[in-house]
Amino acid sequence: MQETTFWRTIGTRIWAEKWLIGLTLAGCVGMIVTNGHAVLAGALWCVLVLALLRQPAMPAPPAAIEPSPSTGEAELATLETGFDALDMPVLVIGPDERVLFQNQAAEKAFGVIPANSDLSGRVRSPGILDMVRETIATGRIYQIEHSERLPSEAVYIVRVAPAALSGVGSENADTVYVVSYRDISQARRIDRMRSDFVANASHELRTPLASLRGFIETLQGPARNDVKAHERFLGIMLEQATRMSRLVDDLLSLSRLELKSHIAPEEDVALGPLLGHVCDTLGPLAQELGVTISLDLPPTAVIVQGDRDELIEVFENLVENACKYGQEGETVEVSLSGGSGDPVEVSVRDRGPGIPAEHVPRITERFYRVNVEASRSKKGTGLGLAIVKHILTRHRARLIVRSVLGEGTVFTVRF
Ligand code: ADP
Repeated sequence: MQETTFWRTIGTRIWAEKWLIGLTLAGCVGMIVTNGHAVLAGALWCVLVLALLRQPAMPAPPAAIEPSPSTGEAELATLETGFDALDMPVLVIGPDERVLFQNQAAEKAFGVIPANSDLSGRVRSPGILDMVRETIATGRIYQIEHSERLPSEAVYIVRVAPAALSGVGSENADTVYVVSYRDISQARRIDRMRSDFVANASHELRTPLASLRGFIETLQGPARNDVKAHERFLGIMLEQATRMSRLVDDLLSLSRLELKSHIAPEEDVALGPLLGHVCDTLGPLAQELGVTISLDLPPTAVIVQGDRDELIEVFENLVENACKYGQEGETVEVSLSGGSGDPVEVSVRDRGPGIPAEHVPRITERFYRVNVEASRSKKGTGLGLAIVKHILTRHRARLIVRSVLGEGTVFTVRF
């Protein structure tokens, strides 16, 4: 390979000095023919060798031509860098519906696709494809709501907008189309939770209200002069009104907690005396339900940063639930442990029927009950554990639920 290059170079040089070499050779031939002087012949040979060794006046090699990106491609590259920094999926497509680029968020959400694939290979939704075609045809911005089922369920606002670039791809392709996916799944979930909440709250209030109305009408009508019925009906009406006010109190409590959920409480609260107070307050209820409350405290004081009233609400809810849903004749065990560097834990254990595993993750949702009738009959509102969870979140504490069917449940608050 190198040898070939050498002979080619020699050939080029001989050709470049053809006139000089020709003259020299002609001189030599003349000398030989005329039988001339040997010194003159040597000089002519030197000229020949010098001519061969001299650097030929080769034309300068052409400068390497770097393929310089067109302005449009450079703009697209800048766009791509920016899109990669976004946490929303973005596709950039050309006027021929080919995907020129997809950002990292799109690859994560929908998987990698080969460059320049057709958009219809990536997007199956006819709604999105029609919208993109409409934007390519009219240059107008469109958006639609779109649900994805795989790899996970998600709701997006898909928007397509033209972006003018200075010449990308083919001659007249100076516009690309940016398809962006804004994930609104979380907002949708919150909306649904809010409307479920309003529906549940209205339903909870409507039931006692309907009952009250019925009794009032009966007392005004058929039972107007029935003294015995008066007494019984008024008792039920008081019960229903109390239920309504319990519900309103819990709802107000929740909304108050939501307002200050981001402010961490700073009071120093001694948990031992606080738990003592809770157990004393619930003593009469426990007695009524036929259970005993035991309290196990460590010898040294355990202090946490918190809001005293809110922590009382937490432990009242947990101990009241343990009494309500526990086993008659059994003991509800309340214990405090930790402090001096160890995590502080308060546990409330009952010996009731336990909570089936599939319900455990949901019992802190508003109005979620394992058994609606059992909860209502025990004067429950379905909001107690939701309030507990809110308060504990504000206290940077966790609620851990361990339940074994037939053996009972332990609710542990870990600070
Ligand atoms: P409620 O007002 O109905 O008691 P909560 O939010 O306090 O509402 O509790 C939600 C549900 O969790 C209850 O309805 C009940 O089904 C279940 N639950 C709570 N505590 C216990 C417990 N200690 N044992 C068994 N089930 C419980």
